[in-house]
Amino acid sequence: MSFTLFISDLHLAAERPRIVDQFFQFVSGPLRGAQALYVLGDLFEYWVGDDDLDDPLNNSVAQAFAAVAATGVAVHFMHGNRDLLVGHEFAARSSAQLLGDPYLTDLHGTPTLLMHGDTLCTDDVEYQKFRAYARHPQNQARFLAQPVAARHAEMEALRVRSESAKLGKTAEIMDVNVPAVEQALRQAGYPRLIHGHTHRPGRHVHRVDGHACERWVLGDWYENGSYLRCDASGCSSIAL
Ligand code: MN
Repeated sequence: MSFTLFISDLHLAAERPRIVDQFFQFVSGPLRGAQALYVLGDLFEYWVGDDDLDDPLNNSVAQAFAAVAATGVAVHFMHGNRDLLVGHEFAARSSAQLLGDPYLTDLHGTPTLLMHGDTLCTDDVEYQKFRAYARHPQNQARFLAQPVAARHAEMEALRVRSESAKLGKTAEIMDVNVPAVEQALRQAGYPRLIHGHTHRPGRHVHRVDGHACERWVLGDWYENGSYLRCDASGCSSIAL
C-alpha cells in the first residue's frame, strides 16, 4: 500500500550530531519506498540564507533529499519559523518542492491540510508580532545583505532570546488556539489537519460545524526522532 511520511521540528544543527545521524537513518530507512515526504517546517535549527548551502550539514541534508527523490519519493518542504529563509536554491539542490502554508492536499483519498502550526498559536501575541517582523520583505532583505558570519551571530542571539522568552510563557499560550484551529478547518472545508511547531505530539478530534476533523501534531526531535506515517487506512505516529 502506498504511504506518505511527515516530519517537522528536527532543529538540525551541527552541535546535535545524534539527531543529525537519526535524520540520515530516517532518510535511508523508513523513507525508502514512500510515495512522498512532507517536511512541515523547522527542519533546521536556523537557516541564514541559501548562500550558506555549502555548509557541510546543509549540503549533506540537501544531497540526502536529492538521493531519495531520485528513487521516486516526492520531497516537499514547508517553512517553519526557524528556517523561513530556505529558498529555491535549497529546493533545487534537494529536488524538493516548496509549499505554501497552509497547503491542502489529497492524502491517499482524505483531504488533508498541512501547516507548520505557528499561525495557529494566536494567544502568543509577542511571537505573532515577531513572526510578522521576520516575514516582512524589507527586514529579510536587510538581514540577507549582511555577511554570512554576521547572520549566524544574529540567529544565535535570537535563539537565546527566544529560549528565555519561552520561560516566561505558559504552556497554554504556546499551544494552538482552538478557535484558530477551527477557523482553519472551516476555511479548508473540514479536512484532516497535520502540523508541527508546538512540540506536543498527539492526535485530537475537533468537532467543527458538525464535522469531526482529525488533527495530528508532529513531535520534535530534541530527545528522539519520530515521524507520522499515513496511508489510505489512516495515520500513525512512529518513534525512531
Ligand atoms: Mn516552529
